[in-house]
Amino acid sequence: MPDLLIVGAGPAGLSATNKAGQLGLDCVVVDENTSAGGQYYRQPPVAWANDRPSDRLLRGRAKIERATAAATFRLGCAVYGIDAEHRIWLDQDGSVERVEPACVLLATGAYDRPVAFPGWTLPGVMSAGSAQALIKSQQVRPGARAVVAGSGPFLYVVALELLHAGVHVIEVIEAATVRSALPFLPDSMRYPARLAELVGYALPLLRAGVRIRRGAMISSAGGDQRLEEVRVRPVRSGANDPPLERVIDADLLCVGYGFAASTELAQLAGCTLAWDRGLQQNVPAYDEWQATSADGVFVAGEASGLGGAPVAECEGELAAIGVARHLGRISDAGAQRMAEPIRSRLRRLRRFASLLPRLFPAPPELAELARPETIVCRCQNVTFERALEAVTHAGATTLNEVKTTTRCGMGWCQGRICGGLLPSLLAQRAGTGFDPASGFTARNPVRPVQVSSLAAIGRVEPSDHGGPGPDHP
Ligand SMILES: Cc1cc2nc3c(=O)[nH]c(=O)nc-3n(C[C@H](O)[C@H](O)[C@H](O)COP(=O)(O)OP(=O)(O)OC[C@H]3O[C@@H](n4cnc5c(N)ncnc54)[C@H](O)[C@@H]3O)c2cc1C
Repeated sequence: MPDLLIVGAGPAGLSATNKAGQLGLDCVVVDENTSAGGQYYRQPPVAWANDRPSDRLLRGRAKIERATAAATFRLGCAVYGIDAEHRIWLDQDGSVERVEPACVLLATGAYDRPVAFPGWTLPGVMSAGSAQALIKSQQVRPGARAVVAGSGPFLYVVALELLHAGVHVIEVIEAATVRSALPFLPDSMRYPARLAELVGYALPLLRAGVRIRRGAMISSAGGDQRLEEVRVRPVRSGANDPPLERVIDADLLCVGYGFAASTELAQLAGCTLAWDRGLQQNVPAYDEWQATSADGVFVAGEASGLGGAPVAECEGELAAIGVARHLGRISDAGAQRMAEPIRSRLRRLRRFASLLPRLFPAPPELAELARPETIVCRCQNVTFERALEAVTHAGATTLNEVKTTTRCGMGWCQGRICGGLLPSLLAQRAGTGFDPASGFTARNPVRPVQVSSLAAIGRVEPSDHGGPGPDHP
């Protein structure tokens, strides 16, 4: 069995692999994607010749090449289960395997935070990250006339990628305003290169005639069979005035109000969680070596909080040093020496990362948008009204109690969508009593798998194969 199993081949996992290789650790890297790189270094299929690859693509390629020489890579392979003894279940094309590495690094990244508004389930409405993945890994143009709505630099990145893919980007609807950002500008000025990077995304959009509206947000999406129009409103209006809406004809709406950390495996491994105020989510707590409270389980990158790719890379390196120290392959003094320059870089990077949610907060007004008939759990077709009634009529105070009353969170996505949007929505709309910090209890399997794979992890006996479907609790 390997010294270290790394789950996730994004920036955090790749940096950890390269450092682990330098330290002589026997390392296996698993990623459910068929290519390494994660979100930041997402690679197009090899068959696509690219005459002018971007700097980021080239850097990613170099890191991947180094990492694949340093470890065994298992791509297209999902970790669908883990337990408190960190026994790990892998599923590759329906074939199941259990591994028991000496240590595990969870570098599972983040995913787009969903927002429920009228029309959000219409074809043509998607998360900003999905639009990016369609362009970068499928070479699919996700629409012809696009509105990109949300908050933060990622909006501009995606708008630019849409533009380069030949989509007519009509407007970028940014919730933040220059005024709301003003108190944080003096601190931001200490990072001129990062600010220049942000401006570098916005300028080509303005030059291409893309309108950028600040202080506005999505209100609803409409259309018969698919998206035809997008309604936008000011984030704030007068105390008694209903917000004035504008209608934009579009067939693509990309929504990006931030990310949510993928914490299911950390929860199942028994890691202690801590409340992250910026993310409004519980994330695994970790020490100076990225070690969690569960013995031999480490975490790095956006699985434990948002900071961007450079932060994820530093954390990955620190985790690899931490694992070598934990296994007694290097002395404590040696580990401290190696870690010091990484930590000092990380401190600076984290200071900038902590400014971003203050410069570009997701507006609390998003919780005003869901109507009684708006679907909040797409897998189980649960409406907002039903989820709300679970709190106001049935007295649910936690997300698990809403789940048992309504079946939300029991479907294919295992609550990744409704679990990301319901806590703040219910806390704001249901009045007192509902705990916004409550989340779903994570359950194996964390990915949809065949029933035979469930048997391997002990959820059903082999004789039960004709029994519960994949959406059974
Ligand atoms: C949709 C999306 C798009 C983004 N695009 C950008 C961008 O363009 N620019 C930017 O600066 N930042 C972007 N970010 C932010 C970005 O996530 C990071 O800064 C960076 O990629 C984080 O690195 P990471 O290694 O922590 O996670 P990731 O890069 O997300 O890598 C995590 C990896 O873990 C794998 N994984 C997760 N769970 C499992 C499992 N159970 N089994 C097997 N494998 C698993 C995933 O497939 C993924 O490859 C994006 C984030 C998201 C969610």
